[in-house]
Amino acid sequence: MLTEARGRLPWLREGSSVPQQQVIRDFGTSRAKAHKDIWERVPQRQRAGMPRWKKKREAVPSLNYTRRGFRLKEGRLHLAGGIVLAVVWSRNLPAEPSSVRVYQDSVGHWYGSFVVPAQARPLPATGRVLGVDWGVKETATTTSDTHDLPRPQHGRKAQAKLTRYDRMMARRRPKKGQAASKGYREARKWRAKTYAKIARQRQDTGRKWAKKVVTDHDAIAVEDFKPKFLAKSSMARKAADAAISATKKALIEMGHKHRRDIRLVHPAHTTMDCASCGARTKHALPLSERTYTCTTCGTVSPRDKNSAHVMLHRAGLNPAGAEGTRPPGALLPEAA
Ligand SMILES: [Zn+2]
Repeated sequence: MLTEARGRLPWLREGSSVPQQQVIRDFGTSRAKAHKDIWERVPQRQRAGMPRWKKKREAVPSLNYTRRGFRLKEGRLHLAGGIVLAVVWSRNLPAEPSSVRVYQDSVGHWYGSFVVPAQARPLPATGRVLGVDWGVKETATTTSDTHDLPRPQHGRKAQAKLTRYDRMMARRRPKKGQAASKGYREARKWRAKTYAKIARQRQDTGRKWAKKVVTDHDAIAVEDFKPKFLAKSSMARKAADAAISATKKALIEMGHKHRRDIRLVHPAHTTMDCASCGARTKHALPLSERTYTCTTCGTVSPRDKNSAHVMLHRAGLNPAGAEGTRPPGALLPEAA
């Protein structure tokens, strides 16, 4: 079918058939994964129901080359179809790559992403465990006071810029059936650039935090947070969700790399349970309520710290390995 399509469509013929075959193979062999790749960048609200075709002009190019489709020679990347690329290497490849994905981001920059066998770097055992709760006020509240991650501040200026570009785009938006103006395309590019910068900063903060957490603990119980990105939610809420997602991703990757035990905990009722006695309150605490008071055992603790301890219990980790855990029996409130 590809041969037939190439015969009919000149623009398809212009490209090498090797990555085209690979695109089809990717889709056929691991449909779920290919599906994820394709729909990843489509906003959530469009995902409901039947998938929507991505228009060619909206799609960001992404091509996968496996062993016979690429070659590395003197630091240059040779692709099937006689394409030679000078690569700016971010770091040396740790092993022989089995494939490379060449793609363009929304800003217009081109990247090559190489697949190499994963190399585990086990870290020495610490005998310590950590519970992590995600939140808006603090991105991560943990069972150790020295491992909490406050809400990142660097996004603020950029967020203001994003809002400005959003308005600019709304003003310059082309009418139906009309081509986008230069001004509109420009605003869209600036927005994409700013957004990419925020994403990089989030990733960087997340990785640094994850490295510290993973170095200091053998096992980490973490809330399996799923971002909602509700249409009505505030900019601050959306930014917080994105920060949590990036941090959680970094933690899972870092844990995997260093062979740590990362346990994902279902988020239901984690704010309602008492970390000391396990009793559940009848109603969820309103977000404004910063203190958790247990009506069964009388424990009083900061709300997010309580949730972080609940993560440990839920994950089946021994809270004795966590810092700041009260010895059994000492259940009276500190202030009493
Ligand atoms: Zn209790």
